[in-house]
Amino acid sequence: MKILVTEEISPKGLDLLRKNGFTADVRLKMPKEEFLKVLPPYEAIITRSGTPVDKEVLDAGTSLKIVARAGVGVDNVDINYATKKGIVVVNVPAGNTISAAEHTIGLLVGTCRNIPAASMNLKSGEWDRKKYMGAELNGKTLGIIGFGRVGSHVGKIALAFDMDLLVYDPYIPEKKVLDIGGERARLVKNLDELLRGSDVITVHTPLTGETRNILAKKEISGMKDGVKLINCARGGIINEKDWLDALNSGKVSGAGCDVWTEEPPESDWMRKLINHPMMVVTPHIGANTSEAQTKVGVTAAEQIIKFAQGDIPDTALNMAMFSPGLLEKLRGFIPLCEILGNFAIQLSDKNPDTLEVEYRGEIADVEDLSLLTSNVIKGIFSQISDMEINMVNAKLAAAEKGLMVKESKTDQSTTYKNKITVRLVSGGSSRTVAGTLFGEKPKIVGMRDFDVDFAPAGHILIASYPDRPGIIGKIGTLLGENNINIESMSLGNKSKIKEALVAFNLNREVPEKMQAEIAKAVGASFIKLVKV
Ligand code: NAD
Repeated sequence: MKILVTEEISPKGLDLLRKNGFTADVRLKMPKEEFLKVLPPYEAIITRSGTPVDKEVLDAGTSLKIVARAGVGVDNVDINYATKKGIVVVNVPAGNTISAAEHTIGLLVGTCRNIPAASMNLKSGEWDRKKYMGAELNGKTLGIIGFGRVGSHVGKIALAFDMDLLVYDPYIPEKKVLDIGGERARLVKNLDELLRGSDVITVHTPLTGETRNILAKKEISGMKDGVKLINCARGGIINEKDWLDALNSGKVSGAGCDVWTEEPPESDWMRKLINHPMMVVTPHIGANTSEAQTKVGVTAAEQIIKFAQGDIPDTALNMAMFSPGLLEKLRGFIPLCEILGNFAIQLSDKNPDTLEVEYRGEIADVEDLSLLTSNVIKGIFSQISDMEINMVNAKLAAAEKGLMVKESKTDQSTTYKNKITVRLVSGGSSRTVAGTLFGEKPKIVGMRDFDVDFAPAGHILIASYPDRPGIIGKIGTLLGENNINIESMSLGNKSKIKEALVAFNLNREVPEKMQAEIAKAVGASFIKLVKV
């Protein structure tokens, strides 16, 4: 196989390719015209973030079979177009985990012992020991928000400092925390509990709608006085303006940060944050180690070798591993499954540990339903991960997060020609949602053991309550008073146990405060707004 390497990767990666009989030509910083001209004989490209692999490039690469991004982000690769052309795209999501975790610990120690400031002081010719009174980590509690690859490794290192861990991550099972920390680590269900109990807090989530500003003024006010805060994940997870205020007031007594909402930082207030004397700062170098670069280069090479040997690369982002016939049979169910996964995670209690997917009816005759189960997983994780989750890597992503996946089929007759039921189990409790296709349109036809019938679209308010007359009217009035329009409604009730469940399709969001008011007014045992 002939491989074109357009950006610098570790020599170990290149050696590995050459040892396996590949031709790896390194041509760095080629002007685009030249790149397009030399590309036709190459079957693979290895790139980093600096080479756009756009439509023009993919068209010019007439022999191209695989594009490997040596790193995480694939913004520079047109994956959709590559998929259309049957070109596989792979990336390397985990190469920098250790480096990011160790950098976090560096910021933590630097912050607690004032190392950068004391170093500057000594270098400037002074000798001031009193000014740099520090704090030990031993025996302190580290709050970790986001316990994925980096967060859990930070936890492991912190345990060696004899720290206790409080972990907040609604999307991992408790077992993952216990396996790492035993008695010294605890998974908390509420962020507030972590905020109240931690001496140092570090964030390791992706930046999503849910995690942007996850630590802002209100959350900071709930922390211990003198807490220390670290961000080595993504700029914006901690609200920087509120962080600056908290440093100025002394509420936060020290801080370490590697990542910024502006990179490089430009605004005045951002410079104030960076220059704050209690802030230890670095310019997004969490992944900058020779080891991480080597790992990334070697893993990219390994993925290409795997592909050339006819195996599925572990980190393929778009590989069409399913036959066109199978894809045709399952086509309509793919979006339904993604919706069911997404619906289930929004309904679910925190920290799901098991996913059960049951296929009923004609669909159960299809031998390989892993494509559909992968799309359920995609629906679960798509909102909480900055990693591109797809049908190739979904099961790997679930395994990495400790989510056990069970798939079952039954061709037993059902009211519907086909019915797919998704159950997410979190400890002792579970949430169940079932769907089918009406024509090509997804429908939700079951929740828990209630039969319902509504379109999974827009804002859907779900409530269950003791069945008695007048409840629907009451909810309708409360929504109407707040200018929220009910577009349609589906009611499921079970006369035997006198319980009812209702789903309203609404024209807009219902604020949490109002949901609580509705729950109180009708004595609801469950209320949740789901957005599709
Ligand atoms: P990961 O996907 O393995 O872990 C992220 C974890 O965050 C998951 O366990 C997920 O369940 C959890 N999470 C998602 N939403 C959450 C929420 N609302 N509340 C609490 N937890 C939530 O990712 P990773 O590889 O560990 O990376 C973590 C972060 O570090 C990412 O933002 C990544 O971009 C960043 N990173 C930065 C550097 C650097 O150079 N500074 C290097 C590597 C990674």
